[in-house]
Amino acid sequence: MTTKTIIDSTHKGWWFITTLVIAGVVLTEAAFAAQTPEIVLKQVQSGTWNVTYNLAHPAKRLEFVRVRDESRAQRWRPTDEQFELKHSADLDVITRKDEGSFSNVSFNIPATYIHVRKEYAPFSPFSDGGLLIHSGRYHVCAGEERRVACPKDDTGDEGPWRITISPPTGAHVILHGEVVNGPVTFFDTHDGTNIYVGPAIPLETEHFLAVIDSDLPKNIHEKLFTYLPQFIEYFSQRLHKLSNRPMLFVSRDPELRTSGYSSQGGTLPNQIFMHLYGEGWDKEPDPATAHFIPWFFAHEAAHLFQKSRVSDAGFGSNPWIHEGSADAFASLSIKKFDPEADEYVMTRVSNAFKDCVQELSKMSGDPINAADKHGAFDVYYSCGMLMNLAADSSVRRASKGEKDLFDIWKVFLEEIDSGAVYAQATYLSVIERMGDAGTAEFLRKFASDPQTDPRATLLSGLKSAGVNEDILDELNAVDSAGE
Ligand SMILES: [Zn+2]
Repeated sequence: MTTKTIIDSTHKGWWFITTLVIAGVVLTEAAFAAQTPEIVLKQVQSGTWNVTYNLAHPAKRLEFVRVRDESRAQRWRPTDEQFELKHSADLDVITRKDEGSFSNVSFNIPATYIHVRKEYAPFSPFSDGGLLIHSGRYHVCAGEERRVACPKDDTGDEGPWRITISPPTGAHVILHGEVVNGPVTFFDTHDGTNIYVGPAIPLETEHFLAVIDSDLPKNIHEKLFTYLPQFIEYFSQRLHKLSNRPMLFVSRDPELRTSGYSSQGGTLPNQIFMHLYGEGWDKEPDPATAHFIPWFFAHEAAHLFQKSRVSDAGFGSNPWIHEGSADAFASLSIKKFDPEADEYVMTRVSNAFKDCVQELSKMSGDPINAADKHGAFDVYYSCGMLMNLAADSSVRRASKGEKDLFDIWKVFLEEIDSGAVYAQATYLSVIERMGDAGTAEFLRKFASDPQTDPRATLLSGLKSAGVNEDILDELNAVDSAGE
């Protein structure tokens, strides 16, 4: 059986933002005691890494900043049995079993790929023994009481963390585009960064610096070097130039042999990454998978351009805007460079319609912006793409075909650059000015108001926005009932 898992991890931890606001009320003493321990990462043996936290002042608790599931508690093993790492609700906490204070603590961790929902992969192994490590996995704050307050850097974000990473013999570190032999120390903030440790030397191209798995299937390799430069070039023309040449990491898991094609990708500032796993990649990909590769790169390249103007903190709100538009950008741009992609794009649009209606129907009338509560993150992509395609149609009609969704984003990003808030209201006001008020109002209602008949609302909204008749006919014919 062919299975395809498409995961895209680009979200900020919303709960943490909420927690900080609460913690802010009772700052003073907690803030005084708050500290970000020094983080030291090193390999213990092949397949096992170790993290050590060194505290400037003894504390009773370390709390993790980014918590999505119980995988840390399941996988991290303290090197000293007096310690434990416990997961409950949205907290991962390290304490001593006797609840005493401590100044350092250390864990061994299997350095294998796992999928953590709505989060970057902690480790992405390469087939030559190299490893991509997500630094944000290690961000902790120290204190005495539950919900310790993190110190903040001068941008108001939590952190920074001082991280030292030591490569094993025969390997080097690639950090922020630099190849470094020997241990590297740096200050880390926000969502963190991906650090490569291994033997590979990055390949320099005009558009990016790439670390590509030596075992990457040939056809994927070809697609990568055909499409990604074109997307980066096109997005640079349509949106803005990137200030730095991005890094690209593509890894192929040597161990994980699930059936079918699976991949997880994402972006962090100035980085695009993709991890492939599963037996499907051993063979020539089927046509849909072959088209998925350029789609994936277009989607991630879009994030790179979006994120280069929006802070991580802002990017977390209303994901239908950035996830939906990244898919809409993919649907609009892959047709430019791949003449055979039309049918694939139409299938993605129909599937998005079906998924959007089905998922919303399960949300008891809640709208897209309440999807987190239902764990229905896919609606940000499915409904989000259609909503952004509605915005695209609206601006095309208003400009008599002169402008499209890229122009909306160019203006939106410029406004954010000039101090506007990255938020739904700002985005909709641009759509209202460049497209029409009716479409902006449909998007607002569809995103934020209770939904009694999502199918009918979506169809009529797309029609009023001026979406092409052929697409509407196709969507009208989609059976969105049942599974
Ligand atoms: Zn995305």
